[in-house]
Formats: sequence, C-alpha cells, structure tokens
Amino acid sequence: AHDTATTPPGPAISLVDVVKDYGGDRKGAANGAAVRGVDLDIGEGEFFSLLGPSGCGKTTTLRMIAGFEEPTGGRILLHGRDMVGVPPDQRDVNLVFQSYALFPHLSVADNVAFGLRRHRVPKGEIHDRVDRMLHTVELADKADRRPRQLSGGQQQRVALARALVNRPRALLLDEPLGALDLKLRQSMQLELKRIQREVGITFVYVTHDQAEALTMSDRIAVMNGGLVEQVGPPREVYERPATAFVAGFIGTSNVLSGRLADSGTGSGAEAGARTGVLDLGDGQQVVLPLPEGAAAGSPVEVTVRPEKITLGAAPPTGRVSRIRGTVEEVVYLGTSSSYAVRTATGTELTVFQPNDGTAALTPGRGDTVWLTWATAHSYPLAPAP
Ligand code: ATP
Repeated sequence: AHDTATTPPGPAISLVDVVKDYGGDRKGAANGAAVRGVDLDIGEGEFFSLLGPSGCGKTTTLRMIAGFEEPTGGRILLHGRDMVGVPPDQRDVNLVFQSYALFPHLSVADNVAFGLRRHRVPKGEIHDRVDRMLHTVELADKADRRPRQLSGGQQQRVALARALVNRPRALLLDEPLGALDLKLRQSMQLELKRIQREVGITFVYVTHDQAEALTMSDRIAVMNGGLVEQVGPPREVYERPATAFVAGFIGTSNVLSGRLADSGTGSGAEAGARTGVLDLGDGQQVVLPLPEGAAAGSPVEVTVRPEKITLGAAPPTGRVSRIRGTVEEVVYLGTSSSYAVRTATGTELTVFQPNDGTAALTPGRGDTVWLTWATAHSYPLAPAP
C-alpha cells in the first residue's frame, strides 16, 4: 500500500528537460540555444552550485527558476508545483545579484526591513525579524549605518539579510561574491555556508569559480555549452570527473588517450576488479578499471589527479600504470611541489609531490622520471555529450 506519511518529500526544485532558445542569430551557444535540455533535482536545504565557464547557460538557468525568463521547452517545478506562467513574485524564491543594489539613503536595518514593510508585516514582528537576521549575518552593530559606510563584504551581507528576512523557501544567488577581492571572497564563502546551514533553506549558487563551488556546495552541476555534464558532491566531481571537460575545468586535466589493448581481470590487491590496459609503447601503459561495455580496440580517455601520481627513477613492474617523461618545470608550493612532466608520447602531465620527506624522488628540470599510480586512480572519461 502507498503510505503518504512515510513518502520522502520531493525535491525543492526540479528541472525536466529545460530548454531556453533566445532565438535570433547569435554566436556562443551551440545548436542555437542557451540551455539545451537540462534535468536537475535540487534537494530541500541543499547548497547546490551551477558551475561552468562564461556563456554556458548558468545565469539563464537561474533566471528561469526565478521566473525572469520562461523556458522554451521542458518544465520547472518548485516544491512540486509546476511554474509555467507563474510570475517571479509568486514563486517563493529570492534572487541575489552580484550588484546588490541597496538603497543608499536607507539605513542597514531599513534596507533589510524594506520587503517586510511592503508586505505590511506588523511593526513589532518586523523589528524582531530584522534584528535576528542582522545577528545571523553579524551586522547587528551596523544597523544604523548607510550602505556606503560599509565594506563590500558587509554590503553583500546586507543584501543577503534583505533576501533571507522574507523567508523564501529557496535563495538563488548569481555570482554574489564576484565583486569582492580574493581574500574577502574566501572569508565570505565560509560565511555564506554558515548562514545557509543556520537558516536551513535551499541555496542555488551560480559561479564560474571552481574553488568556490568546491568549498561551499553539497552538490555541483558542471555546465558546458547549455548542458549539464556532471552532477555530484565536490569530492566526486573533482576525483572522478565524468568527462574530459569536467576534468579540465575542475583542477588539472591530466588526460591520456589511446585504444584499449586488452581487458582482463586484475590480480593481487585488485583481484576480482575488471581492469583494462592502454598500451602506450616502449613498456609504458595505463591500467584502468574497465569502462562499461568497452572492448579491446575501443578508444578510451583516462584522467588521473596530480596528487595520485608518484615519481620514480625506474619503471615499476607488474600490471600497474607506468609512463616515462621529462621534467619541464618544478614549482615549489610550500607543503608540496608541482612538476610539469612531458611524457614520451607528448602529453603534459602535472604531478604534485609532498615536501615532507615522503616523496620517493624529487627530480629537477630536465630529469627523466617514471610516473606511476594505483589502478583505482585511473578514471575513464565518458565521451563528450
Ligand atoms: P556568464 O558567467 O558570462 O554570465 P552564463 O553561463 O551565465 O555566463 P548565460 O548568461 O546563461 O551564461 O548565457 C548563455 C548564452 O545565452 C550565451 O551565449 C548568451 O550570449 C546567451 N544569452 C543570454 N541572455 C540572452 C538574451 N537575453 N538574449 C539573447 N541571448 C542571450
């Protein structure tokens, strides 16, 4: 029997095959559309980021959720309700921009109270809610200041308080920290995350900054050319990029390609795991977990993260990844060093080695090295959609 009492609530925000075609003759979006069929389920209370390069369709997607743009195709559901034709002010979501547009002649408290006054909320309640919200964004002592007497980060927190005081069920943020310098940005990232956790509402956050998305999000959707290429928690999109684009956009791409030479079953520690081999010639190879449906001869791309690679003077033996290369650059980064290595097959790979004395080899420029890593750290990439 269907028991509604135990049915988990649906997602806060659902996009079903959403398309936005602005029409006209326009460059920058493949196939003519800014958004080309996006499916997303964003959970209640989730910090969800839309991440991608300029022009990939993030802002358009956010504006469709807010109701400032109508999709040309597909459906958008907010808390289970179809939003076709529902105007922005009836959507129970609030949008926060990079240009926070505070009223310059109003005090901080009056800026935050503005929406509540317009909705004729009783005076005493306005006072309490504004006061509580200013405490949440840690600006209670600045309540009587004008916006121009505040720093950029403080102004952004006022804008946030102004949106949150209305208690929307979801907050949509479009590059809200874009105008701030790096240091302030980083402290605001942690601040935003804390505030989101405290108020417990859904945040949909648009950014082109991968570090920012990794720092704050519960999950990230990586967009490219109007499509979502991967959705997952930060660790997953970073460590297991699904496509070459995601691998390159988040972190260092380190992509090796070739044809699958054989497929078989691993031995030793990897017994039972199905692994395949990319033969790169001269005793070099990449051993990888076998992609679904891959047969000998099929083309494969594999990525490996810089910190998973170990450098050695001699090739390791056995069924393990090993590639020969020449060190072209060494950059000292404090706790680790970054090595740019040109492989014998012409690919440039980045390798991070710790500087704590545990690295097997700390070569210099021009040295020949062997790169190796565990099979589990080879991630086969899906072909571009
Ligand atoms: P950015 O980070 O630069 O803002 P974005 O990922 O947010 O980029 P969008 O602003 O969604 O990208 O734009 C996606 C595509 O749609 C781009 O090619 C853009 O030129 C186009 N576009 C956006 N708004 C309009 C519009 N109002 N009319 C026509 N084309 C538009």
